[in-house]
Amino acid sequence: MIVRTILGLAMTVVALAVVARRVAYLYRLATAGQPAEPERSIGSAARSLGSVLGAEVAEVLIQRKLLKWTVPGLAHLAAFWGFMLLLVTVIEGYGALFWRDFAIPLIGRQAWLGWLEDTMALATLASVVVFAIIRWRNTPATLGRRSRFFGSHLDAAWLVLFMIFNVVWTLLLYRGAQINTGYFPFERGAYASEAVARVLEPLGEQANTVIEHVGVLVAMAVILGFLVLVVHSKHMHIFTAPLNVALARRTSSGAALGALQPVYSAGAPVDFEDPGEDDLMGRGSIADFTWKGVLDMLSCTECGRCQSQCPAWNTGKPLSPKLVVMNLRDHALARAPYTLAADDDARAALPDPVRAEGERVLVAPVDEANPVAGGVIDPDVLWSCTTCGACVNQCPVDIEHIDHIVDMRRYQVLVEGAFPDEAAVMLRNLEHAGDPWGRGASARLEWAGGLDFEVPVFGAGGEERLPEDIEYLFWVGCAGALDDKAQNTTRAVATLLHQAGVRYMVLGEGETCTGDAARRIGHEFLFQMLAAQNVETLNAVGATRIVVTCAHCFNTIANEYPQLGGHYEVVHHSTLLSRLVAEGRLTPITPLDATITYHDACYLGRHNQIFAPPREVLGAVPGTRLVEMARSGERSFCCGAGGARMWMDESIGERINTNRAREAMSTKPDLVAAACPFCIVMLSDGVRAVDAENGADAAADPSVEVTDIAEVLLRAVQPAAVTPTT
Ligand code: SF4
Ligand code: SF4
Repeated sequence: MIVRTILGLAMTVVALAVVARRVAYLYRLATAGQPAEPERSIGSAARSLGSVLGAEVAEVLIQRKLLKWTVPGLAHLAAFWGFMLLLVTVIEGYGALFWRDFAIPLIGRQAWLGWLEDTMALATLASVVVFAIIRWRNTPATLGRRSRFFGSHLDAAWLVLFMIFNVVWTLLLYRGAQINTGYFPFERGAYASEAVARVLEPLGEQANTVIEHVGVLVAMAVILGFLVLVVHSKHMHIFTAPLNVALARRTSSGAALGALQPVYSAGAPVDFEDPGEDDLMGRGSIADFTWKGVLDMLSCTECGRCQSQCPAWNTGKPLSPKLVVMNLRDHALARAPYTLAADDDARAALPDPVRAEGERVLVAPVDEANPVAGGVIDPDVLWSCTTCGACVNQCPVDIEHIDHIVDMRRYQVLVEGAFPDEAAVMLRNLEHAGDPWGRGASARLEWAGGLDFEVPVFGAGGEERLPEDIEYLFWVGCAGALDDKAQNTTRAVATLLHQAGVRYMVLGEGETCTGDAARRIGHEFLFQMLAAQNVETLNAVGATRIVVTCAHCFNTIANEYPQLGGHYEVVHHSTLLSRLVAEGRLTPITPLDATITYHDACYLGRHNQIFAPPREVLGAVPGTRLVEMARSGERSFCCGAGGARMWMDESIGERINTNRAREAMSTKPDLVAAACPFCIVMLSDGVRAVDAENGADAAADPSVEVTDIAEVLLRAVQPAAVTPTT
């Protein structure tokens, strides 16, 4: 017994020393990161203890996000709770080092505890089998890029599964032997251990005594070895993920969706009117990431859920959100001695490979043959992101991919002046004309021509503030005012508001671009300029309630303008139209015999959780049949326009809009409906591309019409003769 005690304690001391050393090292690495925003602290107004606890319960204890994928989710839940409850058996194992018949005080001999422990051991074993099947069926060896595990550390994952298997069988082995030697704490309940005991019983008491003594030590060694492996592998997420969830940037849509943050340097937003000399303008090196950024990297489970949903990855681009996080993490760990070195002399004394990693450029073409000679993140990776939010939405540990991608873009744009050439025209137009097409303010009311009623324009009657009886300021947006197809939507919404008797006004020449594309491409200075101008205008006219037709305008005005002092109640036209129909202020009476598939805009759906209203509007039209695409709602596939991608060439892989249009057309619809002008432009182009693939004449009309929900409603509310024409 004394040998068992000494060996058990010695193993524990050694393993815990190794673990403590590693944890201290990782802690030093994370805290060497830049300060994060003050809102990250648990005591801040933006992060009440209640919201943190709520997130921990939902994401960690109940594993809400993992359960979106039923089978792997249930397997993970079983493994998680299995391990939590098996901690009780670890306590029993340590007690047994000193007393062979040790039992936990009060509850340690109760049959239900023995039953629960054995059940959780079997549940854990079952989850290992499920995980093994999932990994085997999804192996990159056969599926290639289609596997969500493509690029993950596969050997380490199999090793961890093997270790979990070892934890369970060694536990049951020594418990079975304990039953036969008479030192087992439970008389009843531990049915699996009893089954093992029956197998071991014929070996006799002496053999069972040896198995008990050796078994408890082997079980302990396996658990300690597993602990050491965890803190040295991606499975460190067992410890980092709960922390990451607690410290995630919470928004109304969950974690890190909706608003982007301003550029932060040293924990405070950069003042672009008077920037400090040392202000960090985004992330140009791994050392520029905040400690929360490093924690994100250390939390990635390599599950590939993000990768499996990413529109860029799914259309053959080099961008995988998982690989972005993994590459940043691998670089941060390989560079750690350089990061943590006391001074330049200490850095100079480091081995050549570590110094080379330390001096590696963050964003530059990747050199597969000689990684340290190339960048960590390839520019094609950085510029492929549409900021669609699918990755953030899926990530079970609340990693903030978009924030990191945009922060790296910010450095490229603001410091290096490096971004795709095609976007330069759009940025120049925003700067000089206030819209991406460079049409200027004088073109902003062209859409209103030809309507059979007068569109009320702010200032036309000499007013300096919005009159009291104005219910909504109708924010038309650049696309709504200047793009041919989007103008149809604007006219339709104006007509419907007019018909419903909603009192509204438009700003006309007073509008300028919200700055969404500028912010998402990384040109924060330009965004701040445009946004400040709009906030000043909106505040000056006394706007309180704003209706918009563009998902991007909606997101920017509702979620980002508060950062600049613009606080408004912003409503998307789908929500307002749905409400007007429900209130009886609009009555769709003319049937429309049409099968319609609705495309969820990322900035309406995932980023702002507006899923039902557009469907309610379509459903209110008599005769329509709504068919859903396989990827809809929260899992909708991007149209390819977000993240300023609308203004960049798409030369790698398949075009995202073509992929999405093909999916929409596969539902055999008469109409494809959307509720964002950018989606409509992209899907219309996509339909034409699919038609061309099918051999259609380029001059022919598209085989399927893509239109806004407002235009569909207008057709039902008004006879066709009054419907705006293209
Ligand atoms: S935001 Fe969308 S495009 Fe960008 S990495 Fe995530 S899933 Fe991919
Ligand atoms: S970033 Fe999140 S979703 Fe993607 S692989 Fe890592 S843990 Fe999974």
